[in-house]
Amino acid sequence: MGDRLRIEVDRAACMGSGNCAFHAPATFDLDDEMKVVVLDPEGDDEARVGVAVEGCPTRALRLVE
Ligand code: SF4
Repeated sequence: MGDRLRIEVDRAACMGSGNCAFHAPATFDLDDEMKVVVLDPEGDDEARVGVAVEGCPTRALRLVE
């Protein structure tokens, strides 16, 4: 068991689709500018976070070790 991955967000790249908040709703949300914010990096299990990161249409989300 390694350390948990860190989530990096590129708010400039985010187009506010909401996919990430759909897949991992305890981790991601949209703010009033319709840009992604991380609510809690450990809000959802890693599988859900992985699906959210992979599912971002603009690649605005990244997992880093
Ligand atoms: S899936 Fe990507 S583009 Fe859509 S809200 Fe999340 S970070 Fe933004």
